Amino acid sequence: MTTSNKTIRTCLRGHQYQKSSDCPTCPICEQERKPEQGFLAVLSAPARRALEHNGITSLEQLATYSEKEILQFHGMGPASLPKLRAALQDNGLSFKN
Ligand SMILES: [Zn+2]
Repeated sequence: MTTSNKTIRTCLRGHQYQKSSDCPTCPICEQERKPEQGFLAVLSAPARRALEHNGITSLEQLATYSEKEILQFHGMGPASLPKLRAALQDNGLSFKN
């Protein structure tokens, strides 16, 4: 039995998209969400994994750590620190002292 009743849906932000499942996720919002993690995108893969591994996926979370603590993460290199510092500064944040 096939169920192919695709419906046009409109998400909370007004995007229209076709979905056949009950999945409420809007693909356009989904795509737009990625650049928000821009500070992770500028990092090397090991450094990014190091942060994600420690539950850091936002600058607010990053700001609760000191530079010293961040450097102790496995995979995090000193080259990533200036990028992180700049990303924090852009958002009015800084590393913990
Ligand atoms: Zn949307």
